[in-house]
Amino acid sequence: MPSARSATLASLGETRLIQAIQDWLGAANPPPPHGIGDDCAVLPPRRAQQLVTVDPVIAGRHFDDRVPATAVAAKLLKRNLSDIASMGGRPHSAVIALAAPPTLPVAWLRGFYRGLAACARAHDVHIVGGDCAQTSGPFSAFLTLFGDAPARPLTRAGARPGDLLFVTGALGGSILGKHTRFMPRLAEGRWLAGRREVHAAIDLSDGLGKDLAALVPDACEVVIDPRTLPVSVAARRLARRTRRDPLDCVLNDGEDYELLFAVAPRAIEDFIIAWHRAHPTPLSCIGRILRNASDEPSGRALRFEPALPGGVLTRGYEHFR
Ligand SMILES: [Mg+2]
Repeated sequence: MPSARSATLASLGETRLIQAIQDWLGAANPPPPHGIGDDCAVLPPRRAQQLVTVDPVIAGRHFDDRVPATAVAAKLLKRNLSDIASMGGRPHSAVIALAAPPTLPVAWLRGFYRGLAACARAHDVHIVGGDCAQTSGPFSAFLTLFGDAPARPLTRAGARPGDLLFVTGALGGSILGKHTRFMPRLAEGRWLAGRREVHAAIDLSDGLGKDLAALVPDACEVVIDPRTLPVSVAARRLARRTRRDPLDCVLNDGEDYELLFAVAPRAIEDFIIAWHRAHPTPLSCIGRILRNASDEPSGRALRFEPALPGGVLTRGYEHFR
């Protein structure tokens, strides 16, 4: 028998692995048939419309050896929580599918599931099922999260000419730590969904420079004042270290997991006052949506006034490139 310290998935086998996972998840996994143990989990009926989202973490892509297993699992759940937050929802149940190499240490996977359970408990989410497959590739985990939609789910569509654009928190430099330490903006998202003047929202995962395009309606452009962009401390530090402009970090680093949303301009002072009464989270107004006279293809129309410093481009994080 290998020692506990050196045990790998290959030495554990599937049956004992599933028992171990139930043990590691503890109270985050409800008793069958509502949790692990049957072919499906049975979810009790719910009154609200349902939101569903899926996101992965893949070794070498979303995390490396410097990130502890508990933080990898928390990141996996929080990426999905951020999607539910962007639509104003309340998360409740998740399933998780793993592809793991047989050489993976059991101790690492224990940390992963303990981290997942702790994060799930903190957000009142049940882990109700999953699957484990063997792979010759890197460790990958895909989590599917369900949530109750609010009466009026926020979507990316619905912004109008004249709307003001806001972001929560501060942006850029997430690689210096925020990509695992962020807090999904669930309370803020729910609050926004209850405000009629909020027309559209998205969470920032690929970088403001790219994600902005998703909120721009047809025949419109968005005009951003770069001086109003909330530059994070990490963005300034990373910019110094890599000799980039801090604005380049703000627009293109990605993995901010903040909310970007469009708000009707009338009574905007009331909206801002109400926000600060409800949330300690910083809020920045970064620009506005205007009708576009030119024939730019929609989603491309992004203008900076004043212009960005030379050499700063907006590209965000482009997958598959
Ligand atoms: Mg998203």
